[in-house]
Amino acid sequence: MTGTADFQVVWNDCLNYVKQRIPAQTFDTWFLPIQALSMTPESLFLQVPNKFFYEWIDGHYRDVLEKALKYVTGNGLLIKYSVLITDSYSKDNQKPSTATENDIITDRLPRTGMIERGTKINEKYIFDSFVEGSGNQFAKAAAVAVANAPGKTSFNPLVIYGGTGLGKTHLLQAIGNEALSTGRAKRVAYVSSDSFTLDFIAATQKNKTTEFSKYYRSVDMLLLDDVQFFQKKEQTQEQFFHIFNDLYQHRRQIVLTTDRPPMELRGLQERLLSRFQSSLTVDIQPPDLETRIAILQKKAEDDKLDIPYEVIEYIATNIRSNIRELEGAMIRLLAHSSLLSVDIDLPLVQKVIKEIMGTRTTSSISIENIQSVVGAFFKINLDSMVGNGRTKEVAEARMVAMCFARDYTNLSLKTIGLYFGGRDHSTVVHACKWVENRTKNDPEYSTKIAEMKKKIVSLV
Ligand code: ADP
Ligand code: MG
Repeated sequence: MTGTADFQVVWNDCLNYVKQRIPAQTFDTWFLPIQALSMTPESLFLQVPNKFFYEWIDGHYRDVLEKALKYVTGNGLLIKYSVLITDSYSKDNQKPSTATENDIITDRLPRTGMIERGTKINEKYIFDSFVEGSGNQFAKAAAVAVANAPGKTSFNPLVIYGGTGLGKTHLLQAIGNEALSTGRAKRVAYVSSDSFTLDFIAATQKNKTTEFSKYYRSVDMLLLDDVQFFQKKEQTQEQFFHIFNDLYQHRRQIVLTTDRPPMELRGLQERLLSRFQSSLTVDIQPPDLETRIAILQKKAEDDKLDIPYEVIEYIATNIRSNIRELEGAMIRLLAHSSLLSVDIDLPLVQKVIKEIMGTRTTSSISIENIQSVVGAFFKINLDSMVGNGRTKEVAEARMVAMCFARDYTNLSLKTIGLYFGGRDHSTVVHACKWVENRTKNDPEYSTKIAEMKKKIVSLV
C-alpha cells in the first residue's frame, strides 16, 4: 500500500476485518458512521461525529482497529491512527472537512513524570471536569488539598470510598494530574489493586520482587485504585504493607479508593486495615438530580454538543444509579442520532432510554395512582392536590406525590409539573429535595414515606 489515494481501500479492508470480529449491531453503531479522510505514511485519518464517539471508539475498539491496520497494511506501516473531530455536532457536517493540527487527537503520550510501571493516567480526569455536588463535595475538597500539598497534609493516606461509577477513579487520577502539572510531585504511580497484584505475581515468578518493591518505594505519590481487590491476596498485601510503611515514613502521599468503607473490607489484614482507619476517609454519595443535570450539561458543553435542556433533564431524571450510566446514555443517544441522521430531541431520547431500561423498569405506576395513594394518606382530595391550596397538609402531600412521580414514572419534570396543576419543573425539583431532606433527618417521616411507597408499588 503506497499511494495516499488508497486510503479508502485500506479503510474498507479494515472495516471488513473489524466486522468479522465484533457483533453486527456494534459494528453498525460504531463503525458505519466513521469516514476515512486521508492517509500519510504514518497515519490514517478518520472522521467521527463527535468527541464522545472518539472516546468510545478509542476506549473500546482501539485494539481491534490497530490490529486491523496491521493486518491490512502487512508491515505495520500504519499502526498509528488519529481521529478528526468536527467543531460541533451537526448532521449537516457530513462532508469531510480539512484536518487542522488542533482538530486532531493524536496518540496520547505518557506524561513527563509518569513511569512505565503502573497504568497511564487519563488526562481527561482533572478537577476542572469533575462536577461538584452535595454527594462529592467533601471528597473533592480533600482530593484538592492532597494534590496541592502531597504528603504534607494530615490526610495521609487519603481513602476515598463510594459505589461504582460515582467518580472515584476520576478523583484519584485528578490528584495525579494536578500534582504532576504543578510539579508538586515528580513521580506518580497510578495503579489498580488488580494490576498491582498481577504485577507482583509476575515479579515473583521472575525473581524480580526487589525491583518491584524498589519501584513503588521510589514514587512521590502512590494512587491505588479499588483496594477491595486485595481481599485474600495475602502475599500482595504483605508486600503492599511494607511499601505503604516506607512511603508513609518518607512522607510520600498515598491515596486509596475502595467501593466500601474501610471497616467493611473483609479479607484484608488487620494491620493494613488499621493503617487505613487512621487515615482520612471520605465518601462519595450518588449524585442528586441537579448534579446529574449539571454533569450532563458540562459534558455537552465541553464537547460542544448542542443538546436541548429537556433532553438532558430527561436523561438525568431517568438514569439515577451512577454517572457512568449517565454518560453511557448520552453516548448511545449520540450514536443513534448520528447513525439515523436525526436530531437529538425528546422523542429520540425517550426511545433510547426505553432501550436502556429494557425490562428494568417498564413501570406501570401511573401518576393518578400516586396521587390517590398520597391523597388518601394525607386525607386530601385530588382537587386540592392539583389546586392552589397552601395548607401544610396539602402542600406536603403535593410535594410527596411529585417526588414519587419522579421516582416511579418515566415522565419528565416538566410533565410532572403539568399533572400538578401546571406547576413549573423547578417546583418539582424543590419538592423532591424537600422530601429527601425531610426523610434524611426524620426517621418517623421516613417510615411514613416507606409505607406510602409500599402501597403504590402494591397497586401494580
Ligand atoms: P468509579 O471509579 O467510582 O467507578 P469513575 O471515576 O470511573 O467511577 O467515573 C465514571 C465516569 O463518570 C467517568 O467517566 C467520570 O469521568 C464520570 N464522572 C464521575 N463523577 C463525575 C463528576 N462529579 N463530574 C463529572 N464526571 C464525573
Ligand atoms: Mg474506578
